[in-house]
Amino acid sequence: MAKPKVAFYWCASCGGCEETVIDLNEGLLQVADAVDIVLWPVALDFKKKDVEALSDGEIAVSFINGAVRLEEQEEMVKLLRQKSGLVVAFGACAHLGGIPGLANFYNRETIFQRAYKEAPTVENPEGITPQEKTAIDVGELTLPEFYDTVKTLDQTIPVDYYLPGCPPPPDLVMNAVNAILKGELPERGAVLAPNKAQCDTCPRAETKPEKISMKEIKRPWEIKIDPEECFLVQGLICCGPFTRSGCGETCIRANMPCRGCFGPVDGVVDQGAKGLSAIASILGLEGEEKMSEEDTKKLINQIADPAGTFYRFSLPSSLLRRKRMEGVG
Ligand code: SF4
Ligand code: SF4
Ligand code: SF4
Repeated sequence: MAKPKVAFYWCASCGGCEETVIDLNEGLLQVADAVDIVLWPVALDFKKKDVEALSDGEIAVSFINGAVRLEEQEEMVKLLRQKSGLVVAFGACAHLGGIPGLANFYNRETIFQRAYKEAPTVENPEGITPQEKTAIDVGELTLPEFYDTVKTLDQTIPVDYYLPGCPPPPDLVMNAVNAILKGELPERGAVLAPNKAQCDTCPRAETKPEKISMKEIKRPWEIKIDPEECFLVQGLICCGPFTRSGCGETCIRANMPCRGCFGPVDGVVDQGAKGLSAIASILGLEGEEKMSEEDTKKLINQIADPAGTFYRFSLPSSLLRRKRMEGVG
C-alpha cells in the first residue's frame, strides 16, 4: 500500500520548528518509515514544480510553520492547501503570528528604514533597499513582495489543526503524527494540546493563593527567583493564567515565568487582552485597600513593554492585528 504523502514547509520562521522535527530523534525514523515526505526545504531537495505535479489533495498532510510575511510564502501555502487533505499550522508563528508578528507594530517602510539604513552595523551610503524588480544586463531579477502586515496561516488559507508552541514540543508532534496516521483526529479546527491553562498543571500551583496583590512588578533579572513559589507572588509577570498548557511547563521548570507561546485556551479570542485583564485585576489591591491613581500609574509603568509582554506571540491573531499606520489597511 502506498504510504501517505507528507509535506513540511516554513514561512516567516526562525527555524526552531524545524529543529523540533529533528528532536523527534528515533521518532523521526518511525515517521520517515511510515510516510513519504514530498517536500521539506530545510532537509530535502524538492522543488515547487514537484508539488505542482501532484494531484489536488494527494498530500495527506502539510505541516506549515512560520507566519506569512512574503508574497512567495502566500503562494506556496495556497499551493500546499490545494494539494493537501489536511493542513496543520505548526508552531506559534503559523498559529498566532508568533515573534515575527511583533513586526505588526511597524510597516514595510519603517522596517526597511531600520534594517537597511539605520542599524548601527549597516553600511549603505546609497540607501538601497530590496526591490521587487531589478533590471540587469541579461534580463530582470525579482524578489517576492514584502507585505506591510504579518499574517497567521489561517488568515491566508483554511487550516485544519493547530500544533501550538514556540516550538511545539516533540511529544505533542509525535502524538499529532500518530493521530493523523491512525485517523484518530479530533474535530477540525482543534488545537492539538490540552484545553487547560498552565496554572492548572503548574508544579507551583499550590503556592498561588486565591487572591494575589502585586504591589511591585519585577523583571526576572532583578531578583533571585524562588524556584518553587508562583511567579506572580514574587512580582514577576507569568502568562500561565492566560496560556494553554501542554508544553510540560518547560519555562516554569527552568525557573522562568511562562511567556505565553502556547496561545490561549479555547474560546479566548484575544490572548493579550485576556492577559491584560488578568494582570490588571491583581495589581495593587489587597482587601478593601485602594491605591492612589499616581501609585497605580507607577505600578503600571513597571511593566516593561506591555504590548510585547501580553502580545508576544499573538499580535496578528488578536483583535488589534496590527498597529494602525497611515497607508496600511
Ligand atoms: S514558533 Fe518559535 S520556534 Fe517556531 S518558527 Fe516561530 S519563533 Fe521559531
Ligand atoms: S501564575 Fe505561573 S507560576 Fe503561578 S501557578 Fe500559574 S503558571 Fe504557575
Ligand atoms: S511555559 Fe509558557 S512560554 Fe514556556 S514553553 Fe510553556 S507555554 Fe511556552
